[in-house]
Amino acid sequence: MIRFESLNKVWPDGTHAIRDVSLEVPRGQFCVILGPSGAGKSTLLRAVNGLMQPSSGRVVIDGTEFNARTQSVLRRRVAMVHQHFNLTNRMSVAANVLAGLLPMVSTARAMSGWFRPEHREKACELLAQVGLSPAHLKRRAGELSGGQQQRVGIARAFMLDPEVVLADEPVASLDPKISSDILRLIRDAARERNATVLCSLHQVELAREFGDRIVGMRDGQIVFDGSPEAFTDEC
Ligand code: ADP
Ligand code: ADP
Repeated sequence: MIRFESLNKVWPDGTHAIRDVSLEVPRGQFCVILGPSGAGKSTLLRAVNGLMQPSSGRVVIDGTEFNARTQSVLRRRVAMVHQHFNLTNRMSVAANVLAGLLPMVSTARAMSGWFRPEHREKACELLAQVGLSPAHLKRRAGELSGGQQQRVGIARAFMLDPEVVLADEPVASLDPKISSDILRLIRDAARERNATVLCSLHQVELAREFGDRIVGMRDGQIVFDGSPEAFTDEC
C-alpha cells in the first residue's frame, strides 16, 4: 500500500504544485491520476521514487516512510514508465531492458547488453508479453517505432518485479490508436504480479476504461476520488 500524507510541494519559483494531498492506494490497484497539464500529476508520482522532494508531508510504502535513509531500498520496489520512453536510443534493446536491473547489476554490465542466462530468459519473457520477439534484443532502441519503444520501456520496468509502477502519461507521446494496447500491457503485466500502478493520464475515456479507480487532480488538489462509473465530466 502507498500512503500520501498531507503532501505539499512548492517549487523554488513559488509554484504550489501539490496542495495537501492525502491518498491511500492499496496493493494491486490500477489507480489513474487524471487531470489537465500542470495539475501536479507528474510531481505527485515523483514523490514515490524520490525524484521529487516534498516541501511537507510524507509518502509511506508498506509502512516505510520514503526518506533519504530508506530511499535506496524503496526505489528498487518502484519502477517507472515515462511519457518519452527514456530509452538510450543508440544502445540495443537488450541493454535498455537490462537497465531495469540497475542497481542489481553494474552500469557497465547493463551497457554491454550481456545477460546472465536467467536475466535473458526474463527479458525474453517480458518482451514476448509486450509483443516483441527475442530478435528485437539486438536492435538499437532508437530504430524502433514509438509504440515499440514504449513496449521496451514496459519490459524494462518489470525486470525487477516492482511492487509499484509509476506510469507518467505513458501514452501521451503515442498515436491515440495504440493507447489502449499500451495501457492494457501495463495493466496486465501489473495484474499478473499484483503490482500497484499509479498512472497519470489526461484522457477521460482512457481513465474510465483502465482505472480501477480515478483520482481527479486540478491545481495540485484532489477534486475527485472514486470508481470510473462514478466519474462524470463535471468532476
Ligand atoms: P502535470 O504532470 O499534471 O502536467 P506537473 O506535476 O508536471 O503537472 O506540474 C505541476 C506544476 O508544477 C506546473 O505548474 C509545473 O509548471 C510546475 N513544475 C513542475 N516541475 C517543476 C520544476 N522542476 N520547477 C518548477 N516548477 C515545476
Ligand atoms: P515529462 O513530459 O517527461 O514528464 P515534463 O515536460 O513534465 O517532462 O518536465 C520535464 C522536466 O522539467 C521535469 O524534471 C520537470 O520537473 C521540469 N519542469 C516542468 N515544469 C517546469 C517549470 N515550470 N519550471 C521548471 N522546471 C519544470
